[in-house]
Amino acid sequence: MFSHLTDSITNIPGIGPNTAQKLKKLGIYIVSDLIHYYPRGWDDFSNIVDITSIVDGEKNTIKAELISINQFISPYKRMYITNALFKDDSGSLKVTWFNQPYLIKNLIKHETYLLSGKATKYQGQLALNSPITELADKSPVHSGRIVPIYPLTEGLTSRMLRKNILHLTKTIKSIPDTLPDELIKKYKLSPLSASLVNIHFPASFNILEQSKLRLSLEELAPIQLSILLNKEVWDNHPGKAIKIPANFLANFKSDLKFELTKTQLLAIKQILGDLKQPHPMNRLLMGDVGSGKTIVATAAIIATVKNKYQVALVAPTEILANQHYTNLKPLLDAWNIKSTLITGKTKLNTWAEISNQKIDVIIGTHAIIQKSAKFKNLNLIIIDEQHRFGVRQRQSLKNQNGDFTPHFLSLSATPIPRTLFLGLLEDLNISWLDSLPQGRLPIITKLISDKKQYPAICKLINKEIALNHKVFIIAPLITDSLTSTTKTSVESEKFKMAKLFPNARIALLHGKMNSADKLKIMDQLKNNELDILIATSVIEVGIDISTASVIWIKNAESFGLASLHQMRGRVGRSNIQSFCLIESNSQTPTTIERLEALTKTTNGEKLAKIDLKLRGPGAFFSGQQSGFSKLKLTDLTNIKLIKQSRSLAKDILILDPLLKQFSVFREQVKTNYLTHLE
Ligand code: ADP
Ligand code: MG
Repeated sequence: MFSHLTDSITNIPGIGPNTAQKLKKLGIYIVSDLIHYYPRGWDDFSNIVDITSIVDGEKNTIKAELISINQFISPYKRMYITNALFKDDSGSLKVTWFNQPYLIKNLIKHETYLLSGKATKYQGQLALNSPITELADKSPVHSGRIVPIYPLTEGLTSRMLRKNILHLTKTIKSIPDTLPDELIKKYKLSPLSASLVNIHFPASFNILEQSKLRLSLEELAPIQLSILLNKEVWDNHPGKAIKIPANFLANFKSDLKFELTKTQLLAIKQILGDLKQPHPMNRLLMGDVGSGKTIVATAAIIATVKNKYQVALVAPTEILANQHYTNLKPLLDAWNIKSTLITGKTKLNTWAEISNQKIDVIIGTHAIIQKSAKFKNLNLIIIDEQHRFGVRQRQSLKNQNGDFTPHFLSLSATPIPRTLFLGLLEDLNISWLDSLPQGRLPIITKLISDKKQYPAICKLINKEIALNHKVFIIAPLITDSLTSTTKTSVESEKFKMAKLFPNARIALLHGKMNSADKLKIMDQLKNNELDILIATSVIEVGIDISTASVIWIKNAESFGLASLHQMRGRVGRSNIQSFCLIESNSQTPTTIERLEALTKTTNGEKLAKIDLKLRGPGAFFSGQQSGFSKLKLTDLTNIKLIKQSRSLAKDILILDPLLKQFSVFREQVKTNYLTHLE
């Protein structure tokens, strides 16, 4: 029977409404979903051994004749026990199955079967326990070969999936290749349809590896194509060059209260180098939390304004916009540059000043700037801590002088392994700030899993408060939830902290507060009018309080490693010793491993690698870049593979720049548009 790729799975013989329901739980709706439901592993049952060569404790496969079989219900556990005797040329073997009552009806005496399972000694004799059993056929499915094992849900077995997928072999073989022969040859790839068959039922591990490679390239190609296409679009935009006077950097440095680090200087030079070009800059400034990205961006702002252009600095939150404005204003004033903070309350007059370029630098959130700002001469957009910012959003910042595209710089601390950038994003210009400003002490991070540790924590916090240092307490919820009794809220923490620290000045901060209240609290913290701030993860990005020295994260298991690292970055932002307390009573081994990773390193990139390994690319990138979250087979740590996919994508575009002949990839590029890279 031949099924079409887009047919419902109920069209496959043997899949009734019941099974279909279960398959839906795995995200399998149509035939194509099932074909692309790849195994999570493969058992090697291909090596058939003599009964006398069976190895105790290992998985063995034998081919033997059924001599006798009987079944009884064990009175003790009320379980069906089926015993059988099998024999081959070398000898005979006892086999036992538990709770598979149908076997006695299905197995036929004197037929030859393949049996795969673990051998254990029972009453001094080797026996196979509940082995996979299948009639020895010319083409076995469940035994006597390399056998796929699938991720499952209740009521489904790998056996069912194998049978169903096997039914689709003809359909799979009819799938047209996405690549022309010349590219298949050039990259020595196995054809797509063969790879799809072989990923499920490989004849050898070598064939399996070839299939994985082909299907990984199939996953990566659309990502690489979107990156290359976006870059091409970008490179063809006309831009306006910025002239940089020879003494600019020296003047800039002389205004600063601190020495720039070597990497900050290098990044500034790279950025100025881009700005000098007549086409628009598209650069990402990557730097771990606290590495000092803002000052690097400031150099670009000043250089641009000194060329009589305007700059927009876009922050993810109002708190951050405010913070940037407060920090930048004195510096910009010194250069005679007019800046303004845009808020919901910005007056008409100010908008007018922006549109006739009386104001040079505009700082605010994207929503606010986009709503009303009409720039006269915008030539630099800086986006802080926001990776989802694409061409469309960029264009929505209106420029009356619209015959050129402004330069673009995004700042990010999102920990992503650098190797990934090298392979995936090598065409995007990236500056790395990989050292922290001098004198920073590594944050001491401790895992808290027991209330017995509270007295020591209280002692530490009291000591810090006495030094006028600030303390953050993070809770996942705003209010106690009726549905979750395991997660704490900022409100209940306020109550608890008031008891633990009766003399401390405590305030709350969370996303539901209005911005005036939020800003007031930030001011109070800076002005030493508060000791403890209890917050939700709104505190995650960017907040820069140099006296903050303790962050205590409750229910740490509710946060991803990247978030936790960002939160930890709220302390240790000057030369005082800081502490991060990660509290969790989770017993889940991977969660504990994830949290322990934080105690071992403060390096965001190392953490990203651990996170990627623990959660896999799908979960790691979910909610960040849709293209990546669809990766099922691709090992993102395999740089050779990633480079190969880049080169393949380039070749595809040489053959067919508009992807007319590559409809599968064209559709994927359209839907998985990588907004970060647009
Ligand atoms: P992030 O990279 O997390 O955005 P910021 O730009 O907010 O970091 O910088 C963190 C803090 O370090 C700020 O208070 C900033 O003034 C300070 N800083 C930046 N560069 C240096 C430097 N070279 N030496 C000392 N302090 C610095
Ligand atoms: Mg920042």
